[in-house]
Amino acid sequence: MQMPLIGNLRICNMLSSMIKNHRIPHAILIEGEEGLGKKTLAQFIAKACLCTNENSPCGECKTCHLVEVGSHPDFQIIQPDGSQIKVDQIRNLRVEAFLTPMAARGRVFIISDAHTMNEAAQNAFLKVLEEPPKGVTFILLAKSARLLLETVRSRCVTFTLSPVFFEDDAINKVAALAGVTYSEAQTLLIATDGNIGRAINSANSETVFLSGIAVKILSLAAAKDRLGILRCLQPYVKDRAKVAEIIFELKSALAKEIKKKAMKELSSFTAEKLNFCYSELTNIQNKLEFNPSIPLIFCCIAAVLAA
Ligand SMILES: [Zn+2]
Repeated sequence: MQMPLIGNLRICNMLSSMIKNHRIPHAILIEGEEGLGKKTLAQFIAKACLCTNENSPCGECKTCHLVEVGSHPDFQIIQPDGSQIKVDQIRNLRVEAFLTPMAARGRVFIISDAHTMNEAAQNAFLKVLEEPPKGVTFILLAKSARLLLETVRSRCVTFTLSPVFFEDDAINKVAALAGVTYSEAQTLLIATDGNIGRAINSANSETVFLSGIAVKILSLAAAKDRLGILRCLQPYVKDRAKVAEIIFELKSALAKEIKKKAMKELSSFTAEKLNFCYSELTNIQNKLEFNPSIPLIFCCIAAVLAA
């Protein structure tokens, strides 16, 4: 089966070669924020560990299917009990890890939200990591590796999932999964800071979509691409309410840039330009109340931003 991870090509290639050469590490740490595909990737690795078909994981056999639905006897997902993974849960895991596999050639444990292991739990886990039972694979999922003890971290092979913005293949996949066009998928990814999960989930969210358009328009403004800005606005020429929302989102995006600038972070604009655009957009916003022609408003916006 194909690697289900979207984007993150380097990790995909590295893992594919590990799987092909039967060199899957016994402890893997996948870090990244919610929505980047940690669980999907962990499940894929679990299948690869347990599936015995050629081109493992085949994604079609009983083993793969049981892992998919979470009921393979040699596959377990440990989740926080309340807000933490407690030491007793890890002690149970240690006992389980040393049992002979029931159906497969090994066992796989996914530790979801591994960063919620308290220190006692992490130290208990460390013991099993130091002398891992044969054929057992641990896959830890964490928001950030830094939330784990250095001793635990250093015994894992870490994969850091990144947000996805510009990879063609990734945009196509998001488009297919969210049921939107290529350019809409691009907008969704921009609006969600490249978070695939959020992009797909918010395919129906107008606000996320419009804020993506605003960010896109600002990037065109940075390139002084007046025509590009007009093209972005064109689909809304008959929708006055949406034009008002886009202007609102543009101002929020500008406000963010102004804040960035104040924090001395990198921005594509000078402070003067940002303040100029912000106040001009406020003027345009006010003009909207007098029912002006929308194409005229679009020209004003493009002229101001691409000035
Ligand atoms: Zn299989």
